[in-house]
Parts: sequence; C-alpha cells; structure tokens
Amino acid sequence: MEDRDEFVDFLGQLVSSEQLEGPAGGIAKKVVADGSMSGLTRNQHYALMAGVTSWLGGNFAGYKTRSVEFGESPPAPTCSECPNEMPWSEVFLAENGRCSWCQNVHHKDED
Ligand SMILES: [Zn+2]
Repeated sequence: MEDRDEFVDFLGQLVSSEQLEGPAGGIAKKVVADGSMSGLTRNQHYALMAGVTSWLGGNFAGYKTRSVEFGESPPAPTCSECPNEMPWSEVFLAENGRCSWCQNVHHKDED
C-alpha cells in the first residue's frame, strides 16, 4: 500500500477551487477521483502538467517550468524566502510563496 500522494491532494485543492482551466481541470478531477495519475494517457499527463506548472509559475515567482516525465509529478516549488522545497500540503495555502515556517516568522514580525 502506498500512502496517498500529497500531490494528488494538492490537485484536489486546485479542482475544488476551480483554479485549473481548460482540459487540465477535467483531467485533474479524474486523477483526484482515481487517487493517482496512473490511469492517464501520455497526452492527458502532458495537458495536466501544463496546467499545473502554469499555476505554480503564476503563484511562485521564479518557479522553473520544465518538462515533466510521463507519470511523474512536477517538482515542488521552493519557498520564496528560504531554500526549502515546499511540501505539497502547504503549496496551495502558501502566502506570497512562503513556507509555513517563514510565514510564522513574518507574522511574528508584525506583532
Ligand atoms: Zn521558507
């Protein structure tokens, strides 16, 4: 048994908030329903990665879009303030591209 993929949960967040437009949105719904990307065709995987990496590029300055191998998840974005890779569970809710640790530091500064 594999643990449920955190990337699939992240797709679920994008789907329920309707962040993915066009074919990527429908394909993401299928992945979320299946619980994995294993049922995708090569073209579906390509279209999904195009939608997801463009969302990541729009939300994380400096996110490098690169081609993703068939069946693979895209690389997680890096925090905008520290060198940490973001866990997928934090990506959707990241404020200004920051990881939860940096967000806490920032909020402390504001007190
Ligand atoms: Zn950080």
